[in-house]
Amino acid sequence: MSKTRPPTELVLVLGDQLHPASPALAGLAPERVVVLMIESVGEATRAWSHKQRIALFLAAMRHHAEALRTAGWQVDYQALDAAHASLATGLADAIARHRPARITAVEAGEWRVQKDIESACAAAGVPLRWVRDPHFYCTRDEFAHWAGGRRRLVMEFFYRDMRRRFGVLMEGDKPTGGGWNFDKENRGSFGRAGPPELPARARFAPDDITRGVLAEVAARFGDHPGSLASFAWPVTPAQARQALADFIAHRLPLFGRYQDAMWQGEPWLFHAGIAAALNLKLLDPREAVAAAVDAWQRGAAPLPAVEGFVRQVLGWREFIRGVYWREMPGYATLNHFGHEHPLPAFFWSGETELNCLRQCVSDTMTNGYAHHIQRLMVLGNFALLAGVLPEAVCDWFLAVYVDAVEWVELPNTLGMALHADGGIVGSKPYIASGAYIKRMSNYCAGCRYDPGKRSGEDACPFNYLYWDFLACHRELLARNNRMGLAVKNLERLDAAELGEIRA
Ligand code: SF4
Repeated sequence: MSKTRPPTELVLVLGDQLHPASPALAGLAPERVVVLMIESVGEATRAWSHKQRIALFLAAMRHHAEALRTAGWQVDYQALDAAHASLATGLADAIARHRPARITAVEAGEWRVQKDIESACAAAGVPLRWVRDPHFYCTRDEFAHWAGGRRRLVMEFFYRDMRRRFGVLMEGDKPTGGGWNFDKENRGSFGRAGPPELPARARFAPDDITRGVLAEVAARFGDHPGSLASFAWPVTPAQARQALADFIAHRLPLFGRYQDAMWQGEPWLFHAGIAAALNLKLLDPREAVAAAVDAWQRGAAPLPAVEGFVRQVLGWREFIRGVYWREMPGYATLNHFGHEHPLPAFFWSGETELNCLRQCVSDTMTNGYAHHIQRLMVLGNFALLAGVLPEAVCDWFLAVYVDAVEWVELPNTLGMALHADGGIVGSKPYIASGAYIKRMSNYCAGCRYDPGKRSGEDACPFNYLYWDFLACHRELLARNNRMGLAVKNLERLDAAELGEIRA
């Protein structure tokens, strides 16, 4: 870069915008562009992030910067050493140094980040050009248009529209196989015998760049939660594709049947483990959907498994993102049930006698990962039944999972798991007693509590919290027709026993 001729364009690439071909660079001439990437301490510490979450972001960013340099782009990479307290201060500093005519960035995933970038550019008096993020099937505007005047946003209807619009698993205007979903076939548990033989998880041994990151994270963020020892996440687009191929070949066939099942000591089971690669944009969702559909067409995976996977990527993930951008910023502070309890300390330490929680927290701290039923029906379910302040729960979920970025974490936690949005995301609270956890896992066999009891010293806490929750919120829940049966069951409960449960 010439000192007398500033670059025309400063292109900001965020840590979750690592598209193999950045849409912000399309049509630009490398000699007139400086690509700016910032590792800010504030982004790593705003949520008290799991060490693997910080390491994954940094490793993937540093690999991305290398790929850009190799492709001929000039990259101004502000590593942690530059000590930028926040993304905004790093950007302001770069504007002062480069004096660009314009800033370009792909639209941010997170509402706060988008506002920070807009403020920094406005303060410096530099025009800002947002580029639409082509990673998603549905733009923010298209979702807002779909949501339009609807009284309720129903994911199922959105999903069917997406299937029709993109011709995924469709035969003409009819869904392949004659049904839009095969949920009934996708709720299997392992039974006493446990899971069938589990394929080994695809692991990506850290290279020099990643080893450097791991050492730096251990030194700088040693007091943060979680362990780095098992770090083996894909950190490049090529590795992300390998992880996808590995899932399609070895785990997709049984993914559907066992997607809700849990088993002590087996955190990965038949899950894809590609959410982080998708959310960092290392992997295109179209590629993931096409690979799953292709597996069904080749007869390598059954339709219920493939449909279940497609529903997650094409349906749920896009729906959640649409809701986030439609409802922010007010969404983050919704608290439908008025819950205020602090987050129990065992969410960080795992030190609890409730074995299901102990196992799920332990998996989380070991790997920065737990699968969706562990998150929804054990951790989220407990936080809801125990009346924990939604913001505290959301902060925890954002901090501890490698795939957590706010646009996906917030509606999933606050809306789906906690129903704190009053039903914007889900039509009813996902609450369950110990019977559900007993049916879907082997956790109860190793627990000091009895999942069959709802009162008394050894009663499963999920049981008495479940009935207490219903009693506490009876009036609010009675207005929800999907909760009618649960409220009726509460009314049938013997008054003396309910008193004991509540005490
Ligand atoms: Fe969890 Fe209750 Fe089962 Fe213990 S008995 S593992 S607390 S569901």
